[in-house]
Amino acid sequence: MDPFVYNALPGRVIFGSGTLARVGDEMAALGFTRAMLLSTAGRRGDLAPLEAQLGERVAGVFAGAAMHTPVEVTAEALAATKACGADCLIALGGGSTTGLSKAIALRTDLPQIVIPTTYAGSEASPILGETRDGVKTTQRSMRVLPEVIVYDVDLTLSLPPAMAVVSGINAIAHAAEGLYAPNANPMISMLAEDGVRALARALPAIVADAGDRGARSDALYGAWACGVTLGAVAMGLHHKLCHVLGGSFGLPHAETHTVILPHALAYNASAAPEAMTRLARALGASDAPAALFDLAKSLGAPVSLKALGMPEDGLSKVVDQCLAAPPANPRALEHEALMACLQDAFDGRRP
Ligand code: NAD
Repeated sequence: MDPFVYNALPGRVIFGSGTLARVGDEMAALGFTRAMLLSTAGRRGDLAPLEAQLGERVAGVFAGAAMHTPVEVTAEALAATKACGADCLIALGGGSTTGLSKAIALRTDLPQIVIPTTYAGSEASPILGETRDGVKTTQRSMRVLPEVIVYDVDLTLSLPPAMAVVSGINAIAHAAEGLYAPNANPMISMLAEDGVRALARALPAIVADAGDRGARSDALYGAWACGVTLGAVAMGLHHKLCHVLGGSFGLPHAETHTVILPHALAYNASAAPEAMTRLARALGASDAPAALFDLAKSLGAPVSLKALGMPEDGLSKVVDQCLAAPPANPRALEHEALMACLQDAFDGRRP
């Protein structure tokens, strides 16, 4: 066994079906009585059962969460949170809603109960990405790590299969990079591998039958395992590229992860053989980057940056931004090789 350092993060996780009904008890156990409920505008209706359950314990509702956590939205939500005298935050939604909750927690230290409805994994990480004037910056702070996560499989049944696929591959990306992180450790790598295995099995089953509760449940478990990996160890080239593409070119989060992952892994494969072996094992394949490309393509997900609306002449800007603040990565970042990697992603070439 190689030497390692492992930091366990605190957090309580409730996983199952019908668990939304337990949010009130969780709130009471924390000793809080006035909740600020958060969602996106499109999913405002999902808060109704929570409002019915909590009654007078709902201090306020802010249904304006947006992708990439713009600071203007946070300012508005923060003012509403303060105005209603909330003593805790309850976020129900995908990574955008969780991001807003974390941004408010950063500024207030209010405790959070997060109820995820996608596989983004943000709920399990002490990471917050925020966008100001079109520039996205990321920080790690224990203030933003949610105190309680309530995973309710029932809430994920409405996630359209096409979104489940890209969101699931977004989760796989956390695990994939976690396996070759400089601070990887046996505990997290075990979880990462199992998360990939669960998602790789579940996503085709969800596409075949959107109402397959077993597959939905496996996918949500996989999302948790991958989210824990994201929260525990450092991310490399793949997350850096997606961060720049999302922040500077406004590309959609989960779709961008889906397109970039096979190419970022192909770039790193020769420098991270053990991680590739574990990933391939979890995917039930011999070559992890190619298997992830095939998984996305066979499930109808986008496989090229071109299809996401990326301008081809922007690729060099992405590489420049990546090299200006390079992440820890198993293979050294070289301009020419990165341009070739991004060109493959742009064209949607199988690695
Ligand atoms: P999202 O939260 O924007 O959700 C995508 C869309 O799906 C939204 O329109 C949403 O309303 C809808 N939706 C969500 N759940 C649904 C459901 N069950 N049924 C039907 N529709 C549903 O997207 P996302 O991919 O979950 O999250 C992306 C955001 O999260 C980005 O801003 C990203 O930076 C952030 N993120 C942060 C971390 C972190 O650790 N800080 C990790 C992952 C993602």
